[in-house]
Amino acid sequence: MPRDPSHKPRLPLLLLTSLLILILAAFIPSITPRLTLILSHLRSQSTTPNLTKMTSLYSRELEIAQLAVQRASILTKRVFHETSKGTVSKDDASPVTIGDFGAQALIISALKHNFPHDEIVAEEEATELRANPPLRDQIWELVRTTSLDDVAAEGLLGGGIKDADAMLDIIDQGNSKGGKVGRVWTIDPIDGTKGFLRGGQYAVCLALLEDGDVKVGAIGCPNLPVDDAAPLTADIGANATDDEGRGVLFSAVIGQGATSRPLKAGALAEGRSISMKPLTDMSNASFCESVEAGHSNQSESAQIAQKLGITKQSVRMDSQAKYGSIARGAGDIYLRLPTSKTYQEKIWDHAAGDLIVREAGGQVTDIKGNRLNFGVGRTLATNSGVIAAPKAVHSQVLSVVQEVLGVK
Ligand code: AMP
Ligand code: MG
Repeated sequence: MPRDPSHKPRLPLLLLTSLLILILAAFIPSITPRLTLILSHLRSQSTTPNLTKMTSLYSRELEIAQLAVQRASILTKRVFHETSKGTVSKDDASPVTIGDFGAQALIISALKHNFPHDEIVAEEEATELRANPPLRDQIWELVRTTSLDDVAAEGLLGGGIKDADAMLDIIDQGNSKGGKVGRVWTIDPIDGTKGFLRGGQYAVCLALLEDGDVKVGAIGCPNLPVDDAAPLTADIGANATDDEGRGVLFSAVIGQGATSRPLKAGALAEGRSISMKPLTDMSNASFCESVEAGHSNQSESAQIAQKLGITKQSVRMDSQAKYGSIARGAGDIYLRLPTSKTYQEKIWDHAAGDLIVREAGGQVTDIKGNRLNFGVGRTLATNSGVIAAPKAVHSQVLSVVQEVLGVK
């Protein structure tokens, strides 16, 4: 029979196919488990309800933020105690300066170790320290000797800083302009410096912004009671140093609620979910404001309280401890009323507190009723003042604020 001219010899094709089968047979055993893993991961992503997926979001950022705040809080406590014992001389430099720089160095070092590409907006810069070697060395000594007493936790933060010069460079890495693009951390190493000095309330504050939105917040308050249910008393703003039963760490992640836990010296303590108190009767409400009359108008807040029917005296305390206190239901309302038309609030003074209160069931706006806008740079340039209250009563509080302040 004549051969079909289009017919090609089958042998090479057969050889090629068998070779392919041989290769696949050799690799399949190692590929299969990986394929199964990938498939099961994809399956879990598509079938897991949203809530479960959310819980793992930002978990690493939250852990690092809390540990970094915890470690920096230890440094601030050492500065306070060593100042009163005379180890840190009051004549050399303000203990606030020492604590501020030291805490900022430790926090930035932990952030850069874990998230090297993130930007940082922090309050301090090291120019003063470069010009003052004795001050630099004093701070370096504290930074060098402060660590978490849990090896694994300290390891997560990357351990210590190499030397004093590296510490200065690290402090200067907090110079980002902020803005509404990308990941930006914001740090207030000691918020409430006057409170820190008087042994009252102060806070070590850290928040992560993503495209201008607060995603993670952590606030260490060494002088607040650990007990979330402890009522706010008028004397909370002074003589409240970190004795037994004091020191609390607040935190929140967007969409996952807010938490408080005792502030420890090593690994993180167990957390408890916190929420604002349901406020049914304004006459029982307590409101918080700054100790410093220059930071918030206290005569206007008294008028607002009276119009709202609030009968209790305001509770005055420094720092973002106010946000933490209302978030856990110890207080109810936080008013910050502008004392000047030109002052712009700093993002590091509000970012963590804003998220923690909102995640605890509150609403936070400025006096015009706008959400705080963290995406316009280092300050809240488009906002004026702060009103934080449980969601259910926020509009009532806002309308009285606007009436008293003449805001349209
Ligand atoms: P507080 O302890 O709540 O009174 O707030 C402390 C913060 O107030 C500090 O970290 C300062 O950044 C900020 N601050 C300084 N001057 C003013 C001002 N004129 N109005 C509002 N806040 C201010
Ligand atoms: Mg501050």
